Amino acid sequence: MNINSKLFGTNGIRFIPGDDYDLEFVLNIGLSIGTFFRGADIVIGYDGRRSSPSLVNAISAGLMEAGKNVFAAGMVPTPALQLITQNSNFDGGIVITASHNPPQYNGVKVISTDGIELSRKDESLIEEIYFNHKYNRKNWNDVGQIHTYSSALDNYIDSIINNVDSTLIKNRKLKIVIDSGNGTQSLSAPLLTELLGCNVVTLNSHIDGNFSGRGGEPTPKTLDLLSKSVIEYDADLGVGYDGDGDRSIFCDENGNVFWGDKSGTLIAQHLINKGMNSPIVTTIATSQIIDYVALDNHVDVHRTKVGSVDVSHKMKELDSIFGFEENGGCLYSPHIAVRDGGMATALMLEMLSSSEKSLSEHIEMLPKFYQLKTKFSCPVESRASIIDGISSVLTEKIDTTDGLKIWWDDSSWSLIRPSGTEPIIRLFSESNNESQLESVTKRCSTLIEDLIKNL
Ligand code: MG
Repeated sequence: MNINSKLFGTNGIRFIPGDDYDLEFVLNIGLSIGTFFRGADIVIGYDGRRSSPSLVNAISAGLMEAGKNVFAAGMVPTPALQLITQNSNFDGGIVITASHNPPQYNGVKVISTDGIELSRKDESLIEEIYFNHKYNRKNWNDVGQIHTYSSALDNYIDSIINNVDSTLIKNRKLKIVIDSGNGTQSLSAPLLTELLGCNVVTLNSHIDGNFSGRGGEPTPKTLDLLSKSVIEYDADLGVGYDGDGDRSIFCDENGNVFWGDKSGTLIAQHLINKGMNSPIVTTIATSQIIDYVALDNHVDVHRTKVGSVDVSHKMKELDSIFGFEENGGCLYSPHIAVRDGGMATALMLEMLSSSEKSLSEHIEMLPKFYQLKTKFSCPVESRASIIDGISSVLTEKIDTTDGLKIWWDDSSWSLIRPSGTEPIIRLFSESNNESQLESVTKRCSTLIEDLIKNL
């Protein structure tokens, strides 16, 4: 990681403790964040990674040295911490998590008083404090104190239940298989769905900092067991979460796992049916299906850079009720305008309870598009030159909102962009024509591979 000027990536600060940085770094990050926040009370939570408890203590020490009172919420899903930061009027929040990254990683997410991750501008202010050592250190008499805040999980589950029609869901008596991926939704999703009257089967639903079940990232590839279990238990649906519980990937009753484009669009359509007419916010990496569904219902769609932080801030700006990402992030602002796997699950249950249709029947009704996703290992410092190299040989229409989005025709595109958190380049392609999809994906893959080979 290049630490000379930047600490924050797409979603917080990410690093391998003891390898990239030691605890002194983490303590100084705590001091920098404590110096940045004006108010006195900061709430902090963490995910189930092995390094999380030590990082929480180092960050808390830094915050207290900067005069902040620390409210320790313990191990919670990221959205639960964000919700209490908003609802309990804290002056800021911190989550120690590296989300879906491999177990050796960890990270720091900084939450502003409205529960949303800091703006890019505020992240730069913390970086400026850190790199220039402009810490506001307090003397022995003015250092902050530490308190326990134990009701985060209860408040979180209550808020989700209050934001759906729980009677409707209970009456439908759905059976759901939950794969928490050994992450923090283990602490809330099984209870939440039971309270919503579901018959619940759990997989990988104990906390394990090594994510030894199926890893911390839910994708159609890693959710094989979920898919099989939904069929085996004759369930109505399945859901898999990422390590810190903010993303959810669903599976229909036939065991077909689908990306967040489809689940996000189904939830958006359900909310539109309930009367929502505010703009829908999503990223440039999501499928065109949302455009077709929204257009049919005269609802606007706004696209941002990839990253839920950009989606959250755009939602706030537009007074939007719903936003989503292709990776399974769903954001529902009446609860909180940040992505939340638990809220997405409750909305999906509400959608299914609104009719007798099965999840596969709902999916079947969406416009048909085909997608391919792949990734290439590439050193962080070379990614920009690869993107430039591709751009220089293309004559097609290009959107540079984030990386390169190449429009091959009206309904086929490829997006090539560096990951914000890992040394890889991602390639997504979509088309309404399967052979066109294969050919554009092959063309992009060859371009990327040749450029990487010649580095
Ligand atoms: Mg996450």
